Amino acid sequence: MDSIKCGKCGAELGPVERRRAFISVFVQGDEEIRSWYFCDVCRVWMIEFYYDHFMGDSDITVAGPYPEEAWAAEVALAKTCPSPGDKWCKCPAHEKLSP
Ligand SMILES: [Zn+2]
Ligand SMILES: [Zn+2]
Repeated sequence: MDSIKCGKCGAELGPVERRRAFISVFVQGDEEIRSWYFCDVCRVWMIEFYYDHFMGDSDITVAGPYPEEAWAAEVALAKTCPSPGDKWCKCPAHEKLSP
């Protein structure tokens, strides 16, 4: 995956091991992996959306920066999932974060 940079100061927030939380959900037949990266200097979130399309290619969208409070609840929720990489997981976090 590509590196993620802070949208405010440009600092490198990757690699993927440094993301604060992630969750894989199922969106209309495609897998979507949402990863939250946090810049400690600016106190902002950058979110990477990775779409693995059923029909072939995958693409990545990066959104942000968002203020710390904006995603605190979702990140806390994603962290409660016992297996965030499992898009079929039926835990409360998956139920709430799935579209
Ligand atoms: Zn920053
Ligand atoms: Zn889950």
